[in-house]
Amino acid sequence: MRHETKKELERIVGPDKATDSPEHLVAYSYDAYTEERRPDIVLFPATTEEISAIMKVAHRETIPVTPRGAGTNLAGESVPIRGGIVVCLTKMDKILSIDAESLTATVQPGVINLDLQREVEKLGMMYPPDPASWAVATMGGTVATNAGGPRTLKYGVTKDYLLGLIVVLANGDVLKTGGRTLKNVTGYNLTTLICGSEGTLGIITEIIVRLIPKPPASRTIRADFMKLEDCSDAVAAIMASGSVPASLELMDRFVVKAVERSFKLGLPTDVEGILLIQLDGAEETLGREIKQIEKSLIDKNARNIIIAKDSAEAERLWLARRAAGPAMMRMRPNIITEDVTVPVSKLTAMIRKVTEIGERHRIQVGILAHAGDGNLHPCIVFDKRDDDEYKRVQAVCEELIPEALALGGTLSGEHGIGIAKAPFLKFEMDTVALSVMQGIKNYFDPKGILNPGKFV
Ligand SMILES: Cc1cc2nc3c(=O)[nH]c(=O)nc-3n(C[C@H](O)[C@H](O)[C@H](O)COP(=O)(O)OP(=O)(O)OC[C@H]3O[C@@H](n4cnc5c(N)ncnc54)[C@H](O)[C@@H]3O)c2cc1C
Repeated sequence: MRHETKKELERIVGPDKATDSPEHLVAYSYDAYTEERRPDIVLFPATTEEISAIMKVAHRETIPVTPRGAGTNLAGESVPIRGGIVVCLTKMDKILSIDAESLTATVQPGVINLDLQREVEKLGMMYPPDPASWAVATMGGTVATNAGGPRTLKYGVTKDYLLGLIVVLANGDVLKTGGRTLKNVTGYNLTTLICGSEGTLGIITEIIVRLIPKPPASRTIRADFMKLEDCSDAVAAIMASGSVPASLELMDRFVVKAVERSFKLGLPTDVEGILLIQLDGAEETLGREIKQIEKSLIDKNARNIIIAKDSAEAERLWLARRAAGPAMMRMRPNIITEDVTVPVSKLTAMIRKVTEIGERHRIQVGILAHAGDGNLHPCIVFDKRDDDEYKRVQAVCEELIPEALALGGTLSGEHGIGIAKAPFLKFEMDTVALSVMQGIKNYFDPKGILNPGKFV
């Protein structure tokens, strides 16, 4: 990038919010996937107007721009693979308003998901989308990836709570979509189109979300299984039992052992699988639901069932699930968290496949799953410096996808496409769907400067 262009960009945001120091360029060259590429400059704008001015320069000069939140995505979506500008939104971190009467909140994109959760909870409300990365992931990032989380099973994903957006387009124009009403069918649903677009259609600078009243009570159950198949069969049995848990998460023995090794939470390491279940709703109905679920667990040979006595014990049980990602990241230098998703009735079949493929390629694969959604996270731990091992890892990833598709599933339930899944898109989407997506991209971003080198 030309020196004068850097200076022009620096003048837009101010010298303290622009950097091209080598250490910053390295820090913003990667995310939670395995690829990296240094940008030419990193900018930390504070307003929509500044972002509009940045995009006008980038458009004029045809410079790639990669929007970035916390960089926690697992598919290389915020790697500036063609260099250029990283626009990091973390300084735009204000909760602008919470409207308890209309059950809405308006936030800037750099607000951390958990910070919003805590603020709305104080007022008796809940913002359901809860990615496991919620302590660091930004609202902008979660909208741009249409993030889900453990509570997706009962409450849905980010798009289900999205009412409106302000988005800066590739040419610097400012687009407003939706609004603060719960119902809005005016025109094409541009809000939903931007949601999940991974920074390829525009930069989100303001977000209006829907809130719901916080459920009055909740209960947590943990069930341990000696056989992984019993564990995953129990998931389908619970789903068919008539109650819909808020969360229904599965961890296999590999993951349980990793958590124990790192965090010593007292988990049983002799079991093949653990289910963590959260129910919420009215106190009166929870007792009946717990009985239904207990019956399904016993029918599927659960060795041990723990029903948390209070919120402190529930929190301790959930700690094991939250520790799973970090525990596996500590095992080997690299991790790829796959995201294949199948109908719940095919969960056991897919788990069997994952295990078989990992063993055949002699690769360590732990299985975590938002099991009630059929959303598996095979966690592949390895050392990328070992060429032979890395080749076998890639073979595992390549084999998982057709298996999931053959079972009626999808290649990504929540993490998105980015660089990681781009080569496989054609297996799931036909040429008509791909060309419609390309047409949308061409309209929004004719010069192809927004997050180039990704799935479109
Ligand atoms: C331990 C761990 C657990 C995770 N658990 C989950 C989970 O349960 N569910 C889940 O869905 N994901 C999960 N993820 C993945 C990740 O946290 C989510 O994808 C999250 O939404 C990314 O938010 P971020 O702020 O880190 O965004 P980034 O990673 O910085 O960016 C993600 C994408 O959004 C774009 N983007 C970011 N901000 C903007 C903006 N303001 N405007 C336009 N585009 C933007 C980027 O260009 C990129 O394409 C997990 C990741 C980790 C490391």
